[in-house]
Amino acid sequence: MAVTVASEWLNACSGCEISILNIGEPILDLIPDKLELVHIPALVDSKYFGPTGDGDRLTLPKATVGLVSGGVRNAEHEEVLKELRDKVDILIALGTCATNGGIPAQANMFANEDVFAKVFRGCPTHDAVETPDDLVPCYTENVKAIDEVVDVDIFIPGCPPHPDWIADALLALLDGKTEWALPERSVCDTCPVIREEKSGGGAVKRPLENFEYDPDQPLESMRCIMEQGYLCVGAVTRAGCAGQDGAPRCISARQSCRGCFGPIRKGARPLVDMMGAMSSVGLEARSVIDRRAMLNRFVGSHGNLRPLPARRR
Ligand code: SF4
Ligand code: SF4
Ligand code: SF4
Repeated sequence: MAVTVASEWLNACSGCEISILNIGEPILDLIPDKLELVHIPALVDSKYFGPTGDGDRLTLPKATVGLVSGGVRNAEHEEVLKELRDKVDILIALGTCATNGGIPAQANMFANEDVFAKVFRGCPTHDAVETPDDLVPCYTENVKAIDEVVDVDIFIPGCPPHPDWIADALLALLDGKTEWALPERSVCDTCPVIREEKSGGGAVKRPLENFEYDPDQPLESMRCIMEQGYLCVGAVTRAGCAGQDGAPRCISARQSCRGCFGPIRKGARPLVDMMGAMSSVGLEARSVIDRRAMLNRFVGSHGNLRPLPARRR
């Protein structure tokens, strides 16, 4: 009998669903005999209120596996997430928004009233309007990762997660396993650049300047970006963006890691850990502009980002 999968997207951009599609042929080989997608609104018209959409309560189909992208930002997300949790045996948090809040959780640095004031009345490109208070779901107090609302069985981080890992997790479940996890190692652990464990030290250089590398030479000949004095958060970021093997994607493109796979392990504090990593090569963490946001860029849920007292109303 096929393993059934139901997918939902909450406060999401659909990039995670594109990653499901990017699994490509391996998933086509499994459908429909081994894997059956019973609900996936990103691809197929799916109604919340029954098959024709005219039921009187939100209901989702039962499935073995639930895949959820996006964090929780409003009451509708909460309701959909709880309904899916009730209907599936194994719930997977898909992507960094679902696992750690992702970029939308940067909003957690501000009280909702300040966000609304900025969006509806502080934008120079449109007239000021009142904050809508009907016909839209109520905002939650902050942006939550999904495990702050329901129990989650498997986490597949990444913005977006690499298709290899989605396929790997689904194949493990098809094999009858009930657990799966990305290996606990850092982006630095998989990065082939030259490291000398020291830098010129001092203030972090502005990222608008280029660091040194020869585009005609392999990545292995480039000096570590952080040791060249630029911010690169690979030391506190979970590896996996290149899939099962290969060098980290941004470093391969001669860009620094911004942390999109989230922390190496649950409960880690990237801000604190990164300040330690920077001081180990003599860089001044205090010189990073907007340090709290930059070092928590993808991990604002779980209390990592809160409004500062001065910003409260
Ligand atoms: S993790 Fe990235 S790709 Fe997935 S929903 Fe969030 S922003 Fe989009
Ligand atoms: S700090 Fe950046 S460039 Fe240096 S080893 Fe880590 S990921 Fe690679
Ligand atoms: S190098 Fe860092 S920011 Fe770039 S894709 Fe990999 S984890 Fe994400």
